[in-house]
Amino acid sequence: MTDSLIGNAILSISMGVKDLHSGQYARSLSAIRNIYAGILLLCKEVLVRHSPKNSNDVLIKSRILPSKGDDGTIIFVGKGRKTVNRTQIQERFESLGLSLDWNRLNRISEIRNEIEHFYSKKPEPLLREALSGTFVLVHRLVVDHLNELPIALLGQKTWQALLEANEVYEKEHARCISSFGSVSFGSPILEQAIEQLSCPSCGSSLIMQLDEGNADEYSIELLCSSCGAIHERETIFEAALINEKYHEYYLSYNDTGDWALEPCPGCRRQSYIVEENKCALCGYNPVDITDENW
Ligand SMILES: [Zn+2]
Ligand SMILES: [Zn+2]
Repeated sequence: MTDSLIGNAILSISMGVKDLHSGQYARSLSAIRNIYAGILLLCKEVLVRHSPKNSNDVLIKSRILPSKGDDGTIIFVGKGRKTVNRTQIQERFESLGLSLDWNRLNRISEIRNEIEHFYSKKPEPLLREALSGTFVLVHRLVVDHLNELPIALLGQKTWQALLEANEVYEKEHARCISSFGSVSFGSPILEQAIEQLSCPSCGSSLIMQLDEGNADEYSIELLCSSCGAIHERETIFEAALINEKYHEYYLSYNDTGDWALEPCPGCRRQSYIVEENKCALCGYNPVDITDENW
């Protein structure tokens, strides 16, 4: 079982990477599907290796039944052929204390949708981002969870292509984030959201400040470094705040309890952050109102 699982995982990922790396953009969709499927197979391989002996690979079976062992103790065994889906894979990793950057996995699936949707635009930056995410996920799964060498499993060409895509993407993403370096944001929650921006024209997360020297948060203009589109800050920032994945991301790094967004009476965007008592986009604050400062 396990040989074919890992073999299929490597085959899917290698095929996808080869298509994308060789510029076979016409095959982008099937390539991304292959990569995504391959990563899920690697996750299943991890679960198989954690399954107890004689449990019929219980951790990858979607149906689990209790059974009596030879000495009368109750054990859980996998039933049937149906294996775990994406949600169950994450549940089982989490309940076993195995970590993985699930946001990156979701992002690959989003990129697949974005490529389908924005197909006429240049797909290279998005594909590079998908490969970069693949690099991070495969590295984690293969090195940390399977104790294997990625270069030995995937082969030098495939691994090198992933590594390079990751370097280029990370460099560009870091440049985008540092373009906001002079700005002091009134809202810490918005300040962290700049790592999670997304272009409504092409779906890329490479969004930077047009004027890198600008320090005033209300004068920010945004540029998508993938497709060149210029966006107004309100639209992009509001979308980042509303994004549930950002919400999860923020809460996983900051132990501040829950935070909620309300419609802002000042700018009418969904950007009034209850925890901060302030609108992250226009600065509206009910206390300032009485001071006639606003
Ligand atoms: Zn764009
Ligand atoms: Zn507002």
